[in-house]
Amino acid sequence: MTSSYPYLLKPLNLGIITLKNRVLMGSMHTGLEDSADGFPRLAAFFRERAQGQVGLMVTGGIAPNPEGRLGLGGTGLNAESFKTGHALITNAVHAEGGVILMQLLHGGRYSRHQGLVAPSALKSPINPLTPRALTASEVESSIEDFARTAAQAQDFGYAGVEIMGSEGYLIHEFFSPRTNLREDDWGGNFDNRARFAVEIVRRIRQRCGKNFIIMYRMSMIELVENSNPWEEVVALAKAIEGAGANLINSGIGWHESRVPTIAGMVPRGAFTWATQRMMGEVKIPLIASNRINNPEQAETIIAGGFADMVSMARPFLADSDFVLKAMENRADEINTCIACNQACLDRIFDAKIASCMVNPRACNELEMNVHEAAFPKRIAVVGAGPGGLACATTAAQRGYKVTLFEAADRIGGQFNMAMVVPGKEDYAETIRYFGRQIEILGIEVFLNRQASAADLVDGHYDEVILATGVSPRLPGIPGIEHPMVLSYVDVLWHRKEVGKKVAIIGAGGVGFDVAEYLAHSASIGTSANAELEQFLREWGIDRFYRIPGALEPERQPMKSSRTIFLLQRKDSRHGASLGKTKGWAIRAALLKRGVQMIGSVDYQRIDDEGLHLRVGNQEQLLEVDNVIVCAGQTSSKELYEELKLAGTTAHLIGGAAKASELDAERAIEEGTRLALAI
Ligand code: NAP
Ligand code: SF4
Repeated sequence: MTSSYPYLLKPLNLGIITLKNRVLMGSMHTGLEDSADGFPRLAAFFRERAQGQVGLMVTGGIAPNPEGRLGLGGTGLNAESFKTGHALITNAVHAEGGVILMQLLHGGRYSRHQGLVAPSALKSPINPLTPRALTASEVESSIEDFARTAAQAQDFGYAGVEIMGSEGYLIHEFFSPRTNLREDDWGGNFDNRARFAVEIVRRIRQRCGKNFIIMYRMSMIELVENSNPWEEVVALAKAIEGAGANLINSGIGWHESRVPTIAGMVPRGAFTWATQRMMGEVKIPLIASNRINNPEQAETIIAGGFADMVSMARPFLADSDFVLKAMENRADEINTCIACNQACLDRIFDAKIASCMVNPRACNELEMNVHEAAFPKRIAVVGAGPGGLACATTAAQRGYKVTLFEAADRIGGQFNMAMVVPGKEDYAETIRYFGRQIEILGIEVFLNRQASAADLVDGHYDEVILATGVSPRLPGIPGIEHPMVLSYVDVLWHRKEVGKKVAIIGAGGVGFDVAEYLAHSASIGTSANAELEQFLREWGIDRFYRIPGALEPERQPMKSSRTIFLLQRKDSRHGASLGKTKGWAIRAALLKRGVQMIGSVDYQRIDDEGLHLRVGNQEQLLEVDNVIVCAGQTSSKELYEELKLAGTTAHLIGGAAKASELDAERAIEEGTRLALAI
């Protein structure tokens, strides 16, 4: 079969091994690394990705010593007792013809335990703890710890290691003048600051021999003040190559930089130009990273000479068969990562096991399996939102005969509204994915069909699943029926015209979405290039690297042409419910656009003058053209009760079951689990 992705799928000869294609599954901490039943689950996780033909994989970060652990329970590798567990992983991967590296990560000043260390005793702005500066002899022993841990990894069956030298962790801290104020042999001039990184590579090569893969992840662009100039970034890459590395992977930014680097608002492939700048400076292959989530884009990166390989991490949570589907020209069947961070990074920040919003099977491979049904039941699913779609397609995969009813003229439910919000365009991919599954699985679909009890109780169906979703809540504010009042559905679904001055009632996820939509709609560019340029300008990123770190000291204001008030009754910070990994960026983006966030609001009335409020003791009139209601949702259980009364086996899932906690992550997981259980 001729492949549509000849560059992406071309083998890559590293001299010591030939990788079957140019795709790296980047390192992801899943939380399983620290959990009691983690190793068998990780083995199943990596086995599936190896079966899916990914060229190279990396584990989550393993600390080379106790000080380097990210948290108290963080992952280390000092005991031989780990050997059996890691051998489960490496054997599973080798059985499928895969290649896996262990990532070595020392947390440095990002570690969240009392014993944290760094080159200098400088606190990070994102960690309340201040590190202790390593002594010169401790620097030496830390290098030894890296080399020893690499040798253990080799003994455990790993083909090599990735050395985490970016994102502001210990090795990066040594290299950066921002965090390294040392005056001994490990600080000061370039050679001294680079020495820690170079020595680690050199000693691992010495200890593990020439057939061991050493991949070094270095920061191509730092996105913080007081960083290295581009010439020193290049000089480090050359030194790393000279010390014996086989591959250089791209890191983007520091964790403490106030620029989003992987959230949905980051345009696809927004940082590949940074890797491209390095092409030709070293002879070893370079890997591009960040916001790459489909094979066409990955192909363009390699064909266009931006990099020799691409790294994707979250896309392999969303679909373990990403590469296999690309190989078989079935890219339209890929379940695409939509960069929501909800079930992966946000869960990790809450000390939970990661999974994926669009693929709840991720990290649950031993438990959530599609077994063929013993008895071919007839299933009706009412509602083709994310929960209903997950349920219908999983039930059909089990061999059930599934009929799907949808009141609207299209499938996708709330995702149809999310996908029009700037930064959430990828939500359309989930609808595309389910649409294709419906075709492949032969699910019968009735659109524009509000299913009634009569449709469902006539004995045609063995089980009925109600995934009927939610309706917007209309708060009892006097004047709420005024023609200037719109609901978020009017704006995002029906695309009703909205005036230049707007008040948004409710600052939950949907209120923020509407604000984002309205703040952008007058200014956003149309082409991918215009979108990228706007993003770089907005966040002050200098793609010509004229400034060390490539971060402009002055940002250009990107004021919206609309006046937008985002209102809530609470007195807490706006956007607190949006998720740790991207809430800050969404909030910052709206503030840049001039959105006015007002809390502690008491809504008085709406009339021809506008929206009357009280904030504290102060009466206020917002003279707006439109008031947009984003005040949460309600749902009805009427149909469910009717079906129960009629003796039909009915199940409620998603927002239909619990409107107050409407959440696509929960709806998709509930739908999938229910279909596996019935
Ligand atoms: P929500 O998060 O419950 O927010 C609704 C907001 O409306 C609340 O913040 C509440 O704030 C206000 N409100 C509630 N009842 C009100 C009333 N009677 N009068 C006036 N204001 C009222 O609901 P949502 O924004 O519709 O989001 C629903 C779900 O979708 C969320 O739980 C989230 O999981 C998901 N979502 C997430 C994102 C994301 O980016 N993470 C984006 C979209 C949707 P006050 O009570 O303080 O006024
Ligand atoms: Fe991607 Fe969201 Fe899944 Fe994370 S949870 S892998 S961001 S789709």
